[in-house]
Amino acid sequence: MTSHPEPGRPVHDHRDLNADMSIFATDPMVGAGLPLWLPAGAVIRQELEQLAREIAEGDGCLPVYSPVLGKRALYERSGHWEKFSEDMFPAMRLGGDELVLRPANCPHHAMIYAAEPRSYRQLPIRLNELAPMFRAERSGVISGLRRVRQISLDDTHVFCRPDQTAAEVARALRSALEAQRVLDLPVDYVRLSRRDASDHYLGSASRWRDAEQVLRSAATDVLAAGGPALVEAVGQAAFYGPKLDLQVRDQRGHEETIATVQLDFNQPDRFDLTYDAADGTRQRVVMIHRGTVGAMERVVAALLERHSGRLPLWLAPVQVCALPVSAAQDDYAHALVDELRAAGLRARLDTDGSLGARIRASRRRRDNIIAVAGPAEASADLVHVTDPSTDFTGPLERATFVSTVRGAHASRARRITWPTLDTDHH
Ligand SMILES: [Zn+2]
Repeated sequence: MTSHPEPGRPVHDHRDLNADMSIFATDPMVGAGLPLWLPAGAVIRQELEQLAREIAEGDGCLPVYSPVLGKRALYERSGHWEKFSEDMFPAMRLGGDELVLRPANCPHHAMIYAAEPRSYRQLPIRLNELAPMFRAERSGVISGLRRVRQISLDDTHVFCRPDQTAAEVARALRSALEAQRVLDLPVDYVRLSRRDASDHYLGSASRWRDAEQVLRSAATDVLAAGGPALVEAVGQAAFYGPKLDLQVRDQRGHEETIATVQLDFNQPDRFDLTYDAADGTRQRVVMIHRGTVGAMERVVAALLERHSGRLPLWLAPVQVCALPVSAAQDDYAHALVDELRAAGLRARLDTDGSLGARIRASRRRRDNIIAVAGPAEASADLVHVTDPSTDFTGPLERATFVSTVRGAHASRARRITWPTLDTDHH
C-alpha cells in the first residue's frame, strides 16, 4: 500500500473515512464547524497531545493554562482587533465588559510573561499550552475537521534575548520537523513567509528585513543537514511578523501549513515585554510563536487522508481486534484482550456474527491488527495475526505477539517488525 497515490487514483477524504471509523460527529444543534470528538477520535488526539507534550518538555518548555476568552481590550492591544476582527466572533457584553473568544493564544501568553519581572538570566522562557482558539469561519467554508470554528493548537511562545533568537528559531524548526517525521507526514517544503509592500503589517520595514533574515539564516542552517527545501513567499507573513511554515501536500496536491515558527518583534512592543539586562537596563524581549504537532483538527484530517485511515499502530484507535473463530475460543480471546490492555494497548474483542463479517467490520474500521484464535491457536497458546500495513500474516506465540505489539507502540514505529515465522512450528 503506498501512501501517495498516483494522480487519478481514488482519494480518501477524511470525511468519508470518518463514516467508517467514527472519529468525529457533527450536529446542526451544536453548530457548524464545531465537531464532537468521538472515542476513536479522542484516542488519536490523546496520542498526539502526548507527543506534543514530550517534544515541548524535551525543548525545555513550561506548561501553562489560560482562558479561552478575554476582554476586547486585550486584543485591541495585541492588534488582533484591528487586523483580524473579520475572523473573530463578535464580542459578548457582560456587565461593563466586552469579552471575546480568543482568535489566538499569544496575548494570554504575553500576559503570563508580563506577570513577573524577568531577568536576562531566566531567558529563554518557553510557554506551552494545548490551547483552543476560535475562528468565525463562514458556514460555507466549514468542512469536516479541516475548517472549524474552534482550533485546538499545540502552541508555544518563546520569550528570549535578541542574541538567543537564531538558536531558538533553529530549535523550534528542528522540533517541528521531528514531529512531522514521527507522524509520517512528509514536509513538502519549508516556506519563509515574508511581508509584501501593503500596509497590512505591524512594525517598521527595517525590523521586518532583520526578522526575515534571522529566519532565513536559521532555516538554511537547519535544512543544510538534509531535509525539505526552503522556499520564499512574499505576502504570506502573519500581520505581526514573518514565519517559517511547514507545508504538507494532501493527496489532491492541495498544500496546507501543518506547523509554523514565527518571529515577532511587535507583540513585545505592544505589551511592553521587557527583561532586566546584565548592565541593569530594561530591554525589549523577542517573542517566537512555534508549533510542532500543529492543530489537532487539521493534523488528524491530514493523517487520516495520508494513511487512508490505516494509521500507524501508536495512533490507531483499535490496535488489535481479537476474533475467536467460535464461542469455544471466547475465553481464550478474552484473556488475550485483557493481556493486551494490561500491556497498555488498545484491544477490542468481537464475538457476535460470522467470522467473515467480523473481519470485514474490523477492516472497515481500519483496526491495525487482526488476531484470530481458533481451536488450534487456543490449544497451543498462539494467535493468527494479520497486519495489513506490512502484509504480515501467520501464527505467533501469544507472548511474542503481545511483546512485539507493545514494543512497536512504545517506539511509535512506523511499521511493525514481526518475528520471522517458524514454518516448522507444527
Ligand atoms: Zn502565537
